[in-house]
Amino acid sequence: MFRLEVLPARYGDCIWIEYGENPVRRMLIDGGAPGVYKKALKPRLKQLPDTAREFELLVITHVDYDHIRGIIELAHDDSIPFKAKDVWFNGYRHLPKLDNHKVLAGKHGEELTDLLLKNGHSWNRQGFDGKAVVIPDDGDLPWIKFDGDLTVTLMGPTIPMLADLRKDWEHSCKDIHITPEELEEARKEGRYKTLGAKEAKTTKPGRPDIEQLLRADFEEDPSSANGSSIALLVEYQGYRALLAGDAHPSTLVKSIDRLGQDKLKLDVCKLPHHGSRGSVSAALIKRLDCKRYIFSSNGDQFYHPHPEAVARVIEYGGDQPKLLFNYHTDETNIWDDDLLRNAYGYETVYPDGEKGGIVIEKGGNE
Ligand SMILES: [Zn+2]
Repeated sequence: MFRLEVLPARYGDCIWIEYGENPVRRMLIDGGAPGVYKKALKPRLKQLPDTAREFELLVITHVDYDHIRGIIELAHDDSIPFKAKDVWFNGYRHLPKLDNHKVLAGKHGEELTDLLLKNGHSWNRQGFDGKAVVIPDDGDLPWIKFDGDLTVTLMGPTIPMLADLRKDWEHSCKDIHITPEELEEARKEGRYKTLGAKEAKTTKPGRPDIEQLLRADFEEDPSSANGSSIALLVEYQGYRALLAGDAHPSTLVKSIDRLGQDKLKLDVCKLPHHGSRGSVSAALIKRLDCKRYIFSSNGDQFYHPHPEAVARVIEYGGDQPKLLFNYHTDETNIWDDDLLRNAYGYETVYPDGEKGGIVIEKGGNE
């Protein structure tokens, strides 16, 4: 059994993995944006008996608020027993040439660091001996076998990406992932546009013009925080999932090169950075042999997924790609269009309810 639950994480990620039988084992990747813990992650944890709340691995892909917030809330919550055998998170101490103690966007990273240390968690132990979860400059990509026969191959970050984050720690809050509080402040001060958000939309987006979207220039996401994302290739009994965090597509392409593969064979791909136009490149999609593509976002803050990204998946994502959205939103509903589906040959999967969240299962028919 292998299940991937893409919880409704607002504009962030919160991915719950279950695998094996007797016992069923679990991994958790990211905790979503503010409010996600209370609304989605905690209720999901509560469904488990107390004895089943020891996870094989907890991964915090990077320091951005839409990934880390729910984990901080989880770590603060004494009302529900939760344990992880190991935690993968690159904190400040793991960034190369650590000599910069100015922490702005990193305050959430620092808060999590404090919680990890205070609670005596096993931190970056499995596979990395307490050091950074990072791809070395040469040699094979690190791969780790977990109990229950699940293999995880590290697809990102690289050492230069972690060094960039160190240099650029402050910049990450001015970049695309800012906290809602900061967004409010920025609006008041008239800095809203410079923070990288689009203008407020006044009308619902119309039918996408795929040809035009495909002609749009690609400019890679410049965020060093996103670039520092832990990206994972997870494999269980031949079933393969790429969980890209917010990694830069060029990093992922280089990792596919290092695996020596022309096309990376996958059953499912959680696309990088919520389907942003700067993170889903044609170059990346062309290197995947995959049928199911997940977009994790409710469109808050940055109107993800961007139509250019969806168009690239439709065009380069193989024969009849399936687009899986974890929310019904203006940004995702525009792709629920028979005329487009017939013309371009793709399928769409949406959550059942308005609450959001989707489940992908090995052997399932989604
Ligand atoms: Zn994100």
